[in-house]
Amino acid sequence: MKPFTYVRADSVEEATDAFAAHPGARYLGGGTNLVDLMKLGVEVPTALVDVHRLPLDTVEELPDGALRIGAMVRNSDLAAHPTVRDRYPALSQAVLAGASGQLRNAATTGGNLLQRTRCPYFQDVSKPCNKREPGTGCGALGGVHRDHAVLGYSEQCIATNPSDMAVALAALDAHVELYGTEGARSVAAADFHRLPGDHPERDTEIRPGELITGVVLPAGSAGPASAYRKARDRASYAFALASVAAVLHITDGVVDRVGLAFGALAHRPWRARRAEEVLLGAAPTAAAFEHAVDLELAAARPLRDNAYKVPLARRLALDVLGRLAPPVTT
Ligand code: SF4
Repeated sequence: MKPFTYVRADSVEEATDAFAAHPGARYLGGGTNLVDLMKLGVEVPTALVDVHRLPLDTVEELPDGALRIGAMVRNSDLAAHPTVRDRYPALSQAVLAGASGQLRNAATTGGNLLQRTRCPYFQDVSKPCNKREPGTGCGALGGVHRDHAVLGYSEQCIATNPSDMAVALAALDAHVELYGTEGARSVAAADFHRLPGDHPERDTEIRPGELITGVVLPAGSAGPASAYRKARDRASYAFALASVAAVLHITDGVVDRVGLAFGALAHRPWRARRAEEVLLGAAPTAAAFEHAVDLELAAARPLRDNAYKVPLARRLALDVLGRLAPPVTT
């Protein structure tokens, strides 16, 4: 491991100032991904700005009924929070589907959103990887890519985003709150992560030096039923092969609110806008769900070894939607 400077910040401003003062710095939250990557030589920060003691560790209800989750709220605390479990069950289920109990006790909400892909070529500094070292090529494209993307990838990178939590946040219309030297701003969770395009080294829309300060769940997502389901190689402590988060509300026999997002299919949580468009205003029948999901997944371009992801994601989506609104039989 290369030597680095360690700075502990006591306020958000102190953290962003310290980051700006140390080119090549990284923020350190729970450290569950960053420290692993440092051990592998993938991340070589000049400085770690420790933000885990910042006063961003509460879940609070806002005057308009929205819920703000501080960036330092631990994944275990978030999943167990009574309001989250009651009003946003998809989020609680998604967080519990990720990692292990020990890791969830350490990992933070902000860190979960910033975790890097688990593509094995990215984690092996002896292999080519455009994400780790732009211009070196993509080892996975012609190599082992069973776990990789089927939607929205580029020739530069076919990696998937590993977060379960981010998939639920995208479906729930959450917003990510950021703070940097230019002030505070907010980005829709569904737009926070990027597709790889020609710059796979950039995972998110975060600007240099910006710190995630929290996530806001809108009041409007609190009423409708929501759920998360994940398929993986073993029952726990495994990343998704495919996953689905859905939010569904039915009024007078038709869908009047829907949020649908897929995980592990793309470089970012894949908000299924096409499917949502055709479901809005439709009766929640099995045929309508199938039509909507098939329309969305028609854009998939499976690679040599991951075509299984498309029918897997389809079955997961139909199961989750069907459970949220038992289909009408006519
Ligand atoms: Fe690197 Fe992306 Fe290719 Fe994996 S898929 S080797 S992360 S460029």
